[in-house]
Amino acid sequence: MSGITAPAGFILKDAPVTIICPRCQAPVQSVIGRRNGAKAMKAALITSIVFFPLAWVPLCTKSCQDEVHICPQCCHELGRIPA
Ligand SMILES: [Zn+2]
Repeated sequence: MSGITAPAGFILKDAPVTIICPRCQAPVQSVIGRRNGAKAMKAALITSIVFFPLAWVPLCTKSCQDEVHICPQCCHELGRIPA
């Protein structure tokens, strides 16, 4: 996966990066988490139309979730890599 530029100008990839958090101003190593983004919501909507009981599946599927870099000190979202 190619990197994406965070608002602070850092290049985010699918590995933790050392970054200065724009909120707490501390140099931190980002923690990578997963959150549901636009792709997961679209997939859930389509699944709910096709077969409603399984509409939750895309929301729990890693390939549908955005990768987010999070500050470990203040939990601020540093950047997001769309799925
Ligand atoms: Zn922070």
